[in-house]
Amino acid sequence: MFKKKIKLIYYALIVSFLNLILYHYAFYKFVYSIIDIKTLNGVLLLISLLVLTIVLNALVFYIAVFLLRKVGKWLLVLFFTINAVAVYFINTYSVIIDKSMIGNVLNTNYEEASSFFSLTFLIYLIFLGIIPSVVLLKIKVKFTNFKRFGIQVALTLIFLLALIYANSTNWLWIDKNSKKLGALVMPWSYVVNTSRYYHSKNKKNKEQILLPDATVNDSTKSVVVLVIGESARSANFSFYGYQRNTNPELAKINNLHVYPAESAATYTTEGIKAILEHKKTGKLYEILPNYLYRNGIEVIWRSTNWGEPTVRIENYQKKDELIQAYNQEGFEYDEILLQGLKDEIMNSDNNKILIVLHTSTSHGPAYYKKYPPEFNQFTPVCKSVELAKCTQQELINAYDNTILYTDHILATLIEELKQVKDYNTSMIFISDHGESLGEKSLYMHGIPLSIAPKEQYEIPFFVWASDDSLEFKDSNMLSQHHVFHSVLDLLKIDSPVYDESMSIIKK
Ligand SMILES: [Zn+2]
Repeated sequence: MFKKKIKLIYYALIVSFLNLILYHYAFYKFVYSIIDIKTLNGVLLLISLLVLTIVLNALVFYIAVFLLRKVGKWLLVLFFTINAVAVYFINTYSVIIDKSMIGNVLNTNYEEASSFFSLTFLIYLIFLGIIPSVVLLKIKVKFTNFKRFGIQVALTLIFLLALIYANSTNWLWIDKNSKKLGALVMPWSYVVNTSRYYHSKNKKNKEQILLPDATVNDSTKSVVVLVIGESARSANFSFYGYQRNTNPELAKINNLHVYPAESAATYTTEGIKAILEHKKTGKLYEILPNYLYRNGIEVIWRSTNWGEPTVRIENYQKKDELIQAYNQEGFEYDEILLQGLKDEIMNSDNNKILIVLHTSTSHGPAYYKKYPPEFNQFTPVCKSVELAKCTQQELINAYDNTILYTDHILATLIEELKQVKDYNTSMIFISDHGESLGEKSLYMHGIPLSIAPKEQYEIPFFVWASDDSLEFKDSNMLSQHHVFHSVLDLLKIDSPVYDESMSIIKK
């Protein structure tokens, strides 16, 4: 079949047809679930969508290959390869490829990405990526002249417009579901959303807007440790009513205040931004560590994670540096963040210190790799990165062990802080967002907040302080934006942007 040249128009149709059958299972599964297939309109809508997908894509492929020739063919190969990867993630994790998902992908480092690789991933890549690509390259194309090209493009456009017009009764339906439909259509979901992502990132990445200066009018020595959790959902902490004892160590600690809270988003970058900014604005105002550092407060940032806005401080320590500095070769777990921390506080000559520990303890999908063996208490655990292959209970077991380890890290930190006698010490723990563990067949996180299940945004918010005389407010529901103002209160720092209603401390 590869010897004979075929006309470009047929080539474009073949590519489009392959594109439809190989990569649009999730798209049509979703369409099928929301249309009424028993009505005539439902059937017509389904047929129209099928025709539209084939003809519209064929048109784009036709134009691309006609204008770019060989380069156009390689562009199709690139699409097919990325399609295969995208479809693997859509089918395995029920994700949709929208703008924030592209942001998550582009912010992923190799260590995190490699934890998704599996045999099934390879099978997707070979059968949905490489083999169809070889077919695309092998087929020889007979090109037409410019005049015929123009006529064919024009006729196709007229046909498409007629089809869209004939479906005018369904425009509202398409508009209502456009977000999800657009996120499942290949290759445009990632092509369009990647450019949308960079567009909004460029807008956001302009220089941070400085806040009005803060002042320190108080000379007591105080240190706040802000622990940012990763994918920790409140439902699996016994403090929030979970039937398993996942908080054995923290339960023994006095003066620990537990608040219900919701995250501002279901993905890391936006969750962390909300934890560090003074209010929700959509702009990049100076974040808490940068603000305090610029105003003379000592700030230390330690991280086994990523995804925060640019931190402009001197003392910024990543996992590798901590492992090296404290001779912890081979130590993989988040307790590395606590190494030598007490000494750093006691050696400081600053009266006010903010320490941020950005953890990654409950990061999926390989939950079972995130805690030392002694915390493997709920068993058996899921050891596949294709979460749907495990039973839900195995998945929950592995996840609960990460919560148990989080409990241990926080309790250890508080015990260390108690030994720092020169300073008033306090700790805030809050998660960047929640996590789905197979409820409604959803895994991980990243579903747009407006349609996300509560598991993805109900987060833990704990506060502990060494000073027993501090009084804490009762609260029904806190947000991530409560952190900024509560930290100012705990450190006794004055600022024009301070908002008393957003602090958890009673005055
Ligand atoms: Zn996260």
